[in-house]
Amino acid sequence: MPVTATRWLAEYAWLPEHAEPTPDVLIEVDEGRITAVTPLLGAHGPDAGVDVYADAVPLPGLTVPGLSNVHSHAFHRALRGRTHGGRGDFWTWRDQMYGVADRLDPDTYLALARAVYAEMALAGVTCVGEFHYLHHRPDGGAYDDPNEMGAALVEAAAHAGIRLTLLDTCYLTSTVDGQALAGPQRRFGDGDASRWAQRAGAFQPTDAHVRVGAAVHSVRAVPADQLSTVAEWAGERQAPLHVHLSEQPAENDECRAVHGRSPTALLAEYGVLGPDTTAVHTTHPTSADLTLLADSRTGVCLCPTTERDLADGIGPARLMAEAGIRLSLGSDSHAVIDLFEEARAVELDERLRTRRRGHFTPADLLTAASSAGHAALGWADAGRIAVGARADLVTVRLDSARTAGVPPVGTFFAATAADVEQVVVDGRLVVAAGRHLSVDVPAELSAAIEAVTPS
Ligand SMILES: [Zn+2]
Repeated sequence: MPVTATRWLAEYAWLPEHAEPTPDVLIEVDEGRITAVTPLLGAHGPDAGVDVYADAVPLPGLTVPGLSNVHSHAFHRALRGRTHGGRGDFWTWRDQMYGVADRLDPDTYLALARAVYAEMALAGVTCVGEFHYLHHRPDGGAYDDPNEMGAALVEAAAHAGIRLTLLDTCYLTSTVDGQALAGPQRRFGDGDASRWAQRAGAFQPTDAHVRVGAAVHSVRAVPADQLSTVAEWAGERQAPLHVHLSEQPAENDECRAVHGRSPTALLAEYGVLGPDTTAVHTTHPTSADLTLLADSRTGVCLCPTTERDLADGIGPARLMAEAGIRLSLGSDSHAVIDLFEEARAVELDERLRTRRRGHFTPADLLTAASSAGHAALGWADAGRIAVGARADLVTVRLDSARTAGVPPVGTFFAATAADVEQVVVDGRLVVAAGRHLSVDVPAELSAAIEAVTPS
């Protein structure tokens, strides 16, 4: 692996609390942390005759903090392009997704996740939250190591060079009224929440790139009387706790029919909401739900490209932001892995709904894609180009066919993942000249997907 510079000179860098990028910023790094951030301005620049950056490595383009992909199901990447042409809805898509879930084992899962996480690195993602529920063998029996599938994900992220928050997901039932898991769902389940807690608690990877958190799959998949076991497990560890919430109106209707309240109200009652909790989607909340989320300081992860792909609807992003709810972003089913696309969709979807423009500033979108997401994954010291922060630096070309002539502040409305030129994670160079340094991403994706999709 090439030696990573410790002094970078960014043509532009997007610094915290700045409405737009700053030109000519010297960024110094030591042992994976940012130790100095110096906008050179005129006082220190070449015009002043002080060449303070002679030994710094130039970073042409715009350098932003590491991007955070807060919601991922790595294996869904195998479905890209296979489910988009036909009719149907979320539920017909889910049947196709189960077909892939049924074919994975620890080796094929490692190969697929390694390639998918490397694709994320190419897109500027420095940390991923994996919402992991493929725990057991297809018939529901445990592997010799009951956390073998989770261990495969930890190894995959290490190979890809990005950080991972493994959100070990409790998944017990198939319907809100408690029907048992059946068919391909059997491998998701641990029986009850205390057995889930036992297995999840036994998984204690010591690798520096990984953190373990918890997830409630949804109110469909965890009965009300089991919710607090998961919430307490996360609370004892001060670990992130994530939950799919109100992605579909049907989930709201079923929850009201069975419990007489909304999914958000049910989660609030059983202690699932709170400052370490992230609700994923929240596409169909009531105004009372938004108050519960805001009052409990629960964050929301929007997954706009998946929500559009699955015909879920448009979440009320502006209302959430006005309520003070912290927003983050995820590529979820990986129909697209492009945090620029997720970020601008937050603004553009709101325009479609309201027929008005200008709901989120470019800096708001960057915050959602970087620091807010890292915080939601338990890495509060990442996602900012600031002294003391983790040295995650993502450099985007401003001279590609898409970005040429675009002012740096407009990058989130113009760039795609293909414009990411270089990625540094915790001070280590992972992507250079637009190529992953240790994974042949297209070749590994093709091979890994071929191995798990029906021919
Ligand atoms: Zn999801």
